[in-house]
This record gives sequence, C-alpha cells and structure tokens, in this order.
Amino acid sequence: MNFIFLGAPGAGKGTQAALLSEKLGIPHISTGEMLREELKKGTPLGEKVRAFMAKGELVPDQVILEVMKERLEEKDCKGGFILDGFPRTLVQAENLDALLEEINKRIDRVVKIKVSNDTVIKRLSARLVCLQCGADYNLETRPPRQAGICDLCGGVLEQRIDDREDVILNRLQVYEKQTQPLESYYRKQGKLVEINGEKDKDLVLQEILNSLSKG
Ligand code: AMP
Repeated sequence: MNFIFLGAPGAGKGTQAALLSEKLGIPHISTGEMLREELKKGTPLGEKVRAFMAKGELVPDQVILEVMKERLEEKDCKGGFILDGFPRTLVQAENLDALLEEINKRIDRVVKIKVSNDTVIKRLSARLVCLQCGADYNLETRPPRQAGICDLCGGVLEQRIDDREDVILNRLQVYEKQTQPLESYYRKQGKLVEINGEKDKDLVLQEILNSLSKG
C-alpha cells in the first residue's frame, strides 16, 4: 500500500511512519530528512533550501517535486511506501497524483495525525535529534541515557535549527495555511483517516493499524 502521513509539525508523523515502515517492510520517505541530509553534506540542493528551512518556510514546490520524482522511481518503492512531510501544498498533491498515474500507482491511504498546538510546542521545544542517525529524543518524556549522546549510535544530539519557539510558531502557521487544505483534498477522494496523536506512540500505532483493517 502507498501511504501519506499528514499532520502539523510535531504530530508524530516521523515516529509513526518509522514504526509502520518496520511493520509493513516498506520504505519511510521523509522529505525533511532528505533535505537535512543535503544540508549536512553541503550540496548545491542543501544550499538552495537552507534559508527556507531555517525560517520554517516551505521550499519551492518545483525543488521538492524534482527530488520526489526521482525518489519514487527507485526500486524499493515497488511494494509500497510511506510519505512523511510530502505533499505539503495543493500543487504538490496534484503533481504527485499525476506522477503516480504515469507510473501506474496511486495513494491508497492518507493518515492524518491530530494533536493540539500546545502539544506541538511542548514536544518540539524539548526535542533533540542525533546528528548521525536521525533518532529523536524528548528531554522530558524520552531523554537519552547520557546527556547529549545518542543511545543508539553514540552520535551527538542537537536541537534542530527549526525547533526554536519562534520558528515552531511559524511552522504551525505555514501548516494551517498551506498544508491543511490537503485534508479536504484527500477526504473528497475517500482516502483520509484521522487518528488522535495525543496518546502514547504504541497506542497511536495500534489505532493506525486498526484503521487499515477497516478497509
Ligand atoms: P519536516 O522535517 O518534515 O518538518 O521538514 C523540515 C523542513 O523541510 C520544512 O519546514 C520545510 O522547510 C522543508 N520541507 C520538507 N518537506 C517539504 C515539502 N514537501 N515541501 C516544501 N518544503 C518541505
């Protein structure tokens, strides 16, 4: 099956997409993660998107569409995929539909994870991510065993440049204005399921799995 995960920053899309990816054996494709890799490597693409990401603004549709066209044509997407952080605008969603049609595929399910703005601000301002493997921690609810060091790979933990409170508020506004309209786009296509993301991550995953078995 081909999935999209929708939801505000901090809703838990990345966490749930990773869990579902493991469960179903299909790739988890996070555009944010792909762009952060480019930033880290200092590629021309990374330089092009740096200023947008630092401010919590979306990078131009054309840039992300080129990246995704290549990614979706890779072999590992043959048996299904989970998109996390893409599409984020109506233009991206329409182009994705057209692109998938060309390669005889379609989106089967769009999972919207709902959380309050208060939860987002609390979660993101306490988040640390591993510079090496991308694992994420929460200083209040899931702290690393050793301060500043990743439990999984020993890498250094840092706050994301866009997890500062002023940038978080902008990202929330950007979500409401540019990405929220996708909910009705996919609701009209009969593909949207809404999941309460305030609960513990295992309960949220269970709710997602239950929604899949409902057809
Ligand atoms: P994320 O990790 O999904 O929160 O993405 C981090 C940042 O990457 C966003 O704030 C945007 O600047 C950029 N980004 C990721 N995905 C997209 C997308 N589909 N369209 C435009 N910008 C994106």
